[in-house]
Amino acid sequence: MGKRENWFREGALYFRQALEQIGLADRLPSFDSYYACPCCLIALPFEAIAAQELTIEHVPPDGLGGKGMLLTCKRCNNESGRAFDVHAINRARIHDLLAGRGVNRPVRAVFLAGGIPVRGEVSSSGNGWLMQGVPKQNNPAMVKAHDRALRSASERGEESSFKFTIAERFSPQHADVSWLRSAYLAAFAALGWRYILRPALDPIRVQLKESAPAELPAVIGFNPDVDSGTREIMIVHEPESLRSVLVAIGGYSVFLPDPWGSLTIEQLERGIEGLRDEFGKVDLTLSGQVAPWPLNPLYLLDKAIR
Ligand SMILES: [Zn+2]
Repeated sequence: MGKRENWFREGALYFRQALEQIGLADRLPSFDSYYACPCCLIALPFEAIAAQELTIEHVPPDGLGGKGMLLTCKRCNNESGRAFDVHAINRARIHDLLAGRGVNRPVRAVFLAGGIPVRGEVSSSGNGWLMQGVPKQNNPAMVKAHDRALRSASERGEESSFKFTIAERFSPQHADVSWLRSAYLAAFAALGWRYILRPALDPIRVQLKESAPAELPAVIGFNPDVDSGTREIMIVHEPESLRSVLVAIGGYSVFLPDPWGSLTIEQLERGIEGLRDEFGKVDLTLSGQVAPWPLNPLYLLDKAIR
């Protein structure tokens, strides 16, 4: 059996046990195995694998250095990419470019010399920027005038008269939903069904089924100094106002409700707000239990209570 088949069998077994525990096992036919997509909770039979209805999902998304971690349904997997992940990927590229780190694909930009704009691209290998005009997108007369302005400025020694603005856009709200989704999926893969079937996780799934960002509480933090390869899951016990499952992926930290239902996501947001300093920064000392980063579904809580 392949990876997807194994993931299906194990996931289906713990899914049924978790439903039995909360008295909902009669929602499934008593025979056969069913695995539910952790995003939409639609239960699918084993045949869904061969039919490509259950697919391997990367956490974080492929374009952000993610690895295949678990199965989600094809619809949720594709729609998230279209609606949210592209924004997270664009934001990361622009951050990397501006921080002088290498980017795998050039970023569209507008170059200005003497007030004359030329459309082009900026790429970075980590050793400075390379800026290139894109001939097809520009009027040749404008390019000539731009070059003249650039040359005369450099002859006068005015290098600072050259400017560029990034012409690519991303929506921070959409990008944040992508990180929320990655954190939710990693927490599911680590802890399992008994974790995500708690009512406190419902608001997150409601958001994941939407194609636009809703008014979800701000439970995501970003620290640009953290290594992009960071992967951590911590069950936070202290401080009490932040009891949660903290998922850290690169510089992004997402606080999710804890497995015992101590705090709702709104209460978590208030807990974070209460710790902000005058500059809006949160400097935290947390204590709790570190869970292993899942390279495949671990179902730690499902296995612990059998
Ligand atoms: Zn789904």
